[in-house]
Amino acid sequence: MKVKCPKCDKIAELGDDFSYVKCQHCDLDITYGEYVKFIAYKDARYSDILGDYAQEKDGSASVTLDDW
Ligand SMILES: [Zn+2]
Repeated sequence: MKVKCPKCDKIAELGDDFSYVKCQHCDLDITYGEYVKFIAYKDARYSDILGDYAQEKDGSASVTLDDW
């Protein structure tokens, strides 16, 4: 089964029994458990970026209110 490589974003191979994830492009060779953690870690960082952006927007919105 083809999955997206969490390391180089190319096509990696997920074992049929979900026991491993291997990528020929960057020599990634990890267990599925590690793969899930890898994805969760990347998603968490992505959410942080979105959170910071929302805070920034809220911040400038309140500045605009103060200006009024
Ligand atoms: Zn890779």
